[in-house]
Amino acid sequence: MSDVIKLLPDHIANQIAAGEVIQRPASVVKEMVENAIDASATKVQVIIKDAGKTLIQIIDNGSGMTENDAVMSFERHATSKVRKAEDLFALTTKGFRGEALASIAAIAHVVLKTRKEDTETGISIEIEGSKIKKKEACVCPVGTSFEVKNLFYNVPARRNFLKSDNVEFNHIIDEFERIALAHPDITFSLHHNDNEIYSLHSAVLRKRIVDILGRNSNDKLVPIEESTDIVKITGYVGKPEFAKKTRGEQFLFVNNRFFKDSFFSHSLSKAFDGLIQPKMFPSFFLYLDIDPKKIDVNVHPTKTEIKFEEDKLIYSIILSSVRQALGKYNIAPTLDFNRETSFDIPYDMHSKPAVEPTIHVNKNYNPFQSSPSKTGNSFTTAIKAEGFGSNNASPKDWQNFYKVEEEVQLQEPIELDLEVDNLATKNFLIRGKYILTNCKSGILVIDCQRATERIIYDELINKFISNPINSQKLLFPLEREFSSNEKNEWISNQVMLERLGFFGEFQELNLLLSAIPSVLQEENIHDCINLILESIAYQEIGKGEIAHVIVQSIASASGKRKTTLQNNESAEALVEQLFQCPEHSFTPRGKKIIQTLTIEEIALKF
Ligand code: ADP
Ligand code: MG
Repeated sequence: MSDVIKLLPDHIANQIAAGEVIQRPASVVKEMVENAIDASATKVQVIIKDAGKTLIQIIDNGSGMTENDAVMSFERHATSKVRKAEDLFALTTKGFRGEALASIAAIAHVVLKTRKEDTETGISIEIEGSKIKKKEACVCPVGTSFEVKNLFYNVPARRNFLKSDNVEFNHIIDEFERIALAHPDITFSLHHNDNEIYSLHSAVLRKRIVDILGRNSNDKLVPIEESTDIVKITGYVGKPEFAKKTRGEQFLFVNNRFFKDSFFSHSLSKAFDGLIQPKMFPSFFLYLDIDPKKIDVNVHPTKTEIKFEEDKLIYSIILSSVRQALGKYNIAPTLDFNRETSFDIPYDMHSKPAVEPTIHVNKNYNPFQSSPSKTGNSFTTAIKAEGFGSNNASPKDWQNFYKVEEEVQLQEPIELDLEVDNLATKNFLIRGKYILTNCKSGILVIDCQRATERIIYDELINKFISNPINSQKLLFPLEREFSSNEKNEWISNQVMLERLGFFGEFQELNLLLSAIPSVLQEENIHDCINLILESIAYQEIGKGEIAHVIVQSIASASGKRKTTLQNNESAEALVEQLFQCPEHSFTPRGKKIIQTLTIEEIALKF
């Protein structure tokens, strides 16, 4: 028998690697701009055509490359940034894996022009599907220009997977803003189809933030400055009164690299406890400087997740420095750009070695998770397993779903006999909010708002499987500002949202909502959208859960309707509807709808 194992040819191996590093045009922008920064560029131009599907060009005035380096740069694992294993633990550059250029060259047409300062002529290389097609001397400025054309031209599956230009370009803007915020001293520009989107001159950090967020943001910013032997923290937080309804303006950087971390984000939210309304989110632009040995950047190919050796301690230091700064800002005048660092915070930790503050932190706490429900993980797994959100779910799926939901909920069984006592049924409405009714074991107290939430949820989820649910047109479109990430997520779930009654159009980042689900009242729309965004834009949600979370948001917001129940008849109807729901003891979020007072408990009161 002949042997069957063969090494993959390079161009195939590169294509496979590309899948990890290059997901969309925005990934190319990120990798190439980071390379320019690593090459000490002080000016970086980004030119995009058709959201990067036709062209992504990055021009920098950095060090440039020699002819040999230019050829080598497209090889896999070719890097000038890491020589030995130890270097990995003391990274000062953005890149180090040496796979971005090899990956990009495997799946696009690339033209590289580069020149070093000490040579008269540069070198131009054209490469397609990992093969060099042309190499010649050229006249070009010092620095490097990469043109990446026809991304994924030879991977049709990935090309088809790309979203609309709008969505893809928003991803590019997100990456661009993150890098521009990480490097205020570098001049950046971004052009799309010949329109200038950004032209950012080298500036101090405060000016860079204002250039990106808009003029009126200057007055909102409170400086943060803290130096301990563990971490140095600088940056700005937004004043509490400017908190946002979403997490769109939250940026964390470590050693000038953007990263995401729900644990640290939570420490910032905690610093704002009591200063902002629940469900509002503070803005922050926080820069951590830390010994590169104490972080691990190599956890993820795109390097946006980072492990910190001393994360608990850093959590506490962020918390206390932000609190200190917030305490100060009331009496401090608004600072101008030049004096930004003169803000002096008297704070014990400056000179003394850091002592772990006595803040107890639940490492497993996930602030993006909604309140713990008794239906917990297995509930979610159950929903995922049912494949909800796919277009071809059938009513049978949902019957199974209820079974699973019931099974899970019954883990903590309610042993009382909740059966309503028909002979003596009489419902008492208390202040329009609670209903008292007889049951065989005593008295039931029903929370009207939660009951409504359950009823609406069940009704919508049943209807939506076979038909789009009813939608009502708004007399005047309702306007609502989104962050670009939120907008992307909204757009990518548009089919589902329309099926559930939301119709609207974006003008830039503003959603003009023209129709909403009929069950929803106008005063609850904002609440509802916040709930939806919270889930789709800020939590990891399996595709199968999308329908569930949107319906849950609609039900929860509609449950809040201001009109309380008026009379015993409407109470009667509500109780009846509630008991027709297969699960009537808990809301979809796992909150108790019914409390009971047993005969024994009543007897004890006398
Ligand atoms: P990495 O950044 O991980 O080293 P890349 O594939 O992104 O890997 O780049 C490979 C090498 O090409 C880099 O290490 C660098 O030496 C060189 N290079 C890439 N882009 C530039 C640029 N804009 N200017 C100068 N050198 C560059
Ligand atoms: Mg790189």
